[in-house]
Amino acid sequence: MIDIKKVKVFHKDIKINYLSNLMANRGKLGECGYLLDEIDISSEATDNSQISVLLHEILHASIEMLDPDLNEEKNIKLLEIIFATLLRDNIEVFRTILNILENETETR
Ligand SMILES: [Zn+2]
Repeated sequence: MIDIKKVKVFHKDIKINYLSNLMANRGKLGECGYLLDEIDISSEATDNSQISVLLHEILHASIEMLDPDLNEEKNIKLLEIIFATLLRDNIEVFRTILNILENETETR
């Protein structure tokens, strides 16, 4: 389990819940709550799948906050593929970016 407990989306904290039987009960591996304060992820999914689901639900929450009209499944799916592929293909690039951002935060 990836065990990420919360994520911040435009200054809003979103709690991550890992639930068993999400697929059996709701027919999905993840879901963002209506109030955009919680994301449910299937605890039965693989780590790779949980990462993709987390990205997917974060994108739903982000776009819902910015422009709900664009919050369509096909848009989110496309963005999920773009983000997941960019992250996996460029780990060193993102590590460098994270180091720069962490240093900025420390020197503030
Ligand atoms: Zn979706």
